Amino acid sequence: MKPFDPKAFKKGKLAGVLGLGRSGQSVARLLVKKGFKVLGSDVRPKAELTPLLKTLPKAAKWEWNGHSDRLLKCAFVVKSPGLKPDLPIFKTLADKGIPVYSELEIALAYSKAKAVVAITGTNGKSTTTQLTFDIFKAGLPRGRKAILGGNIGIPVSTAVPASKPSDVIVLECSSYQLEDSVSFEPRASAILNVTADHLDHHGSMAAYLEAKAKVFREQGPGDACVFNASDPTVYRLSRECPSQRLYFGTKGMNIHAWEEGGKLHFKLPGSKKELALVPPKLPGRHNLENAMAAGLLALARGIKPAAIQKAFKAFKGVEHRIEPCGVVRGIACVNDSKATNVDSTMVALKAFEPGGKRLLLILGGLHKGFPYAPLKPWIERSVKGILTIGSASRRIEEDLSGLVPIFPCGTLETAVDTGLKIGEKGDTVLLSPACASFDQFKDFEERGRRFKALVAAAKAR
Ligand code: ADP
Repeated sequence: MKPFDPKAFKKGKLAGVLGLGRSGQSVARLLVKKGFKVLGSDVRPKAELTPLLKTLPKAAKWEWNGHSDRLLKCAFVVKSPGLKPDLPIFKTLADKGIPVYSELEIALAYSKAKAVVAITGTNGKSTTTQLTFDIFKAGLPRGRKAILGGNIGIPVSTAVPASKPSDVIVLECSSYQLEDSVSFEPRASAILNVTADHLDHHGSMAAYLEAKAKVFREQGPGDACVFNASDPTVYRLSRECPSQRLYFGTKGMNIHAWEEGGKLHFKLPGSKKELALVPPKLPGRHNLENAMAAGLLALARGIKPAAIQKAFKAFKGVEHRIEPCGVVRGIACVNDSKATNVDSTMVALKAFEPGGKRLLLILGGLHKGFPYAPLKPWIERSVKGILTIGSASRRIEEDLSGLVPIFPCGTLETAVDTGLKIGEKGDTVLLSPACASFDQFKDFEERGRRFKALVAAAKAR
């Protein structure tokens, strides 16, 4: 398929937007501004959509309860990232020859700034994207702006239309956003890690990897892509990269960023100079990896080391990611609500490993289909009790029985209460649930905020 070219479509033509979530609404607003008639289409009922669509311009029409034949009158359609590619409507649109574009593709076509720095991976995207943005903000010369957008919560079509040609767009890209992109050509990109996640959406690991590979597929020799050399899947994928490959990993490998003696070392290919920077003060090896990736992205685009160091120093992490949120009667409470899969919970447990068996771990929520058994060695090392919540509880109890006491709590309220009751001074109650949140909460953010509110209330009692 050809990339989206705004000039190929006359103003006044009908543009379809499939899915009216945050990015669907944002791209609908952009297309109305660009002179298109817009038809939004969503499977949700009218009553559910109406309160959500308050910011949609009057000129945009919308339909509910599914996708009608009116979509077949569209000159092109924009697909929201969450929609599964095998929905029948996409086959119908393809049969009619109606092109379907991603929100990312449309937004970037209207962006004046063309320099994109893109970050993807199964875990660590938001943290690395935020840190990379902070570095560019600190390091771009006066008059040039860094713009933050993508999966981090700011739709690309909201973030970029007001950009100037000299600005740099720092984007968090999920595999959903990438899979539909035809002409995505970031100047610098990164693949942090890849483990099986979202396979229900992509259908296979190969399709998931192909979506991730879109961050480098269209790059040229003047561009760069950063890879995690310690992740065998990422390393294998890197061999297909046509641009300059930059690797982070562990000392001794043939790489460009590593940790040594408490500092992060950077050495770009062809450079004699080795940099040693103090990393951000955040827990866990994974955060060192995130910082190495952000540092390499910045160096690849000519940002000065002093700006990288300044941003590292100031960086406090991102909300809901191993976020300390208070101490109640000597028991620390940590919000890692963003750990929505087994791998990211494992990462949190690794980050706490040096502390001994002092964790009361809140696990559960909506089961994603993967076993919890891979957590066993980390639970044996660091956890003194498991508190289960949500609909995944039974499955967790089955998978992890016999290791440490398990307390079926049902709700987050009971889990926090129980953790603080059975915990002793020096212990940590850690919400790192390894599950989606949708059985009990709107999203992981609401779950994390609820946890913090419960901790604050317990502290005040
Ligand atoms: P994403 O945006 O990809 O979901 P986040 O930066 O929001 O990633 O972090 C989510 C969780 O993933 C963190 O709480 C942590 O447990 C885990 N994580 C963060 N960075 C990494 C990494 N580099 N490798 C593996 N896991 C990570």
